[in-house]
Amino acid sequence: MNASASLAGLTVEAARRALAAQFKASDIDSPDLDARLLIGAALKLDHTGLAVQSARLITGSEANVIASFAQRRLSHEPVARILGHKEFWGLDLRLSDATLVPRPDTETIVAAALQIVRNHSVSNRPLRIADIGTGSGAILLALLSELPAATGIGTDISPAALETAGLNAQRLGLADRISFVQCDYASALSGRFDLIVSNPPYIRSADIAALDHDVRDHDPHLALDGGIDGLDAYRAITPQAAALLAPGGVLIFEVGHDQSEQVSALMHAAGLTLPYPPKADLGGIYRAVMGRKAAI
Ligand code: GLN
Repeated sequence: MNASASLAGLTVEAARRALAAQFKASDIDSPDLDARLLIGAALKLDHTGLAVQSARLITGSEANVIASFAQRRLSHEPVARILGHKEFWGLDLRLSDATLVPRPDTETIVAAALQIVRNHSVSNRPLRIADIGTGSGAILLALLSELPAATGIGTDISPAALETAGLNAQRLGLADRISFVQCDYASALSGRFDLIVSNPPYIRSADIAALDHDVRDHDPHLALDGGIDGLDAYRAITPQAAALLAPGGVLIFEVGHDQSEQVSALMHAAGLTLPYPPKADLGGIYRAVMGRKAAI
């Protein structure tokens, strides 16, 4: 449909419904929510604002913006990319082409880390945290937002990703406790870390072509492609991390749906102990795998 022609002159409510119907007809997963978010962004209105203004008419220029957002969504660009930001752990994160859209599943890594820190009663200590392949900074920023005395270093091979992570740190008021370094995995890090977290690329190269269009066509492949068996990044990072952990320190990986045992084995082979069971995401899939360096 030519959305700009058909939506101008409709009420906000009617435009929202027309767009949702169009998304639904094109098999978009959450048509109502997506229509509301995109029209809200085009009109610069939040949920309440949309309700308050539901009876007013869409102008021609608003219809043009909505049409361009709609076109992008219909070519399977995720809503978060169209909006340029996404909520993660209650934080509003900016995104760029160089970063993954943070997934709700990845909050499992944050929850696992906080659970360990709180069980050891060290939440108020000046913990040193590293996030390998930080992307938008999601995991590290969430942890720093919860642990007021902690400091963090995020690495990424992509300077553009680090720019986005830096922007997020500033916007969230966490820039004074975080630094970033551009390098391959953990190769430029030194010193001792209490916690090392990572959501590395873990999709098997041959599986990339079969991913959802939303992911395959819009997430950076550098952040997805884990090599032939999906485990390349874990093989590279685990020994680096084992060497960087302080005694008693913990490495926490996000893993793909069938990788928890293999990644646990890599941690064991690198000399880490496995005292914590893997933690499942909301879908019941083991998502966080943890290994600990023996305390002296
Ligand atoms: N969870 C992402 C996906 O399924 C993959 C992220 C990653 O490789 N770290 O698309």
